[in-house]
Amino acid sequence: MKAVSLSTPTNLRVTGPTPLPPRVLEAVAVQMISHRSEGFRACLFGVVAGLRPLFGTQVVLPFTASGTGGLEAALVNTVAPGARVFAVETGHFGRRFAEIAERFGAVVRRWCVPCGRAAEAADLRFRLRRSGSLDAVLLTHNETSTGVLSPLPELAAAIRAETDALLLVDGVSSVGAVPLAMDDWGIDVVVTATQKALMSPPGLAIIGTSHRALAASRERRLSRYYFDFTSMAEAVEHGTTTYTPAISIIYALEAALDLIAEETLPNVFSRHLRISRRCRRGFSDLGFALFADPAYASPTVTAVVVPEAWTAGALRRALAERGAIVSLGRGEWKDRVLRIGHMGYVEQHDIDLLVEAVAEVLAS
Ligand SMILES: *Cc1c(COP(=O)(O)O)cnc(C)c1O
Repeated sequence: MKAVSLSTPTNLRVTGPTPLPPRVLEAVAVQMISHRSEGFRACLFGVVAGLRPLFGTQVVLPFTASGTGGLEAALVNTVAPGARVFAVETGHFGRRFAEIAERFGAVVRRWCVPCGRAAEAADLRFRLRRSGSLDAVLLTHNETSTGVLSPLPELAAAIRAETDALLLVDGVSSVGAVPLAMDDWGIDVVVTATQKALMSPPGLAIIGTSHRALAASRERRLSRYYFDFTSMAEAVEHGTTTYTPAISIIYALEAALDLIAEETLPNVFSRHLRISRRCRRGFSDLGFALFADPAYASPTVTAVVVPEAWTAGALRRALAERGAIVSLGRGEWKDRVLRIGHMGYVEQHDIDLLVEAVAEVLAS
């Protein structure tokens, strides 16, 4: 397939990968260096320092993988076969996290929250109390399949009050767009990936880890080689990675983190909130129902139910002809739901263009 020309005015509003800012694009084109060199060390130290405030913790591990690889890494370091795991499933990605745990032999108890709703802290507390002793709890911070942001500080507090199980969080579509304070909130592992709010190409899974998670990884000699937390943490401390990293993605991330630092994190967070509100209002005004409970609507992804006269696929195709690319719903919602990504490199104008394109299509 021919690569899309950079001059094509495509409004890429899928839920990932997200568009790259010009400075990130330039970074991707930079010549290779050795990953055992002073130059790489300086770059990696800068990247890790730039990532820490996004996670709210010190130890941040970059593995070459997509986000799902990061979820697998989180589990194979902390959850032994036979371990008792409580999985909060708010949609497709929560289910995936639970499935990986099961595949590695954990005994998983699932709480399936109705689609479009968030898990609430009081309810979670009640369920944890009846679950007996637990080794790990799995949560999705932002459920990309439904456009729901979990009330993570409250859920984490509920978990900390009921159990000393490790708390593992899928933050793939939230980190860098939504506040996160792993240490303060008592979270042990948060996984993200470069192609969402971090406005870099796909290729790196980045994992924030607590001391408890690192200790668990050292104690549990589970089946893993590549995804070992302990050896990666040692390598990163020395300014390198265990194996050859995706150097171009690290360059890209360095540029993206510079952009975030220049804008400042509070401004990045408020831009996402503002744009998500604009997106929801734009679609509501055109007669779309919003899929997510408004109290927990995501700052990074909006899911809308398409009008009766349309299928999601037909509407998506008509939008693509106008240069606006959006995602379909997942699973049973595939025909009825469209999902719009507004994380990372996105301005109000991009959403206004999308909403205009939708209005044109509906009127045509
Ligand atoms: C995108 C995403 C993932 C990971 O997807 P990959 O394709 O493996 O990068 C996981 N969880 C959530 C919530 C996501 O949005």
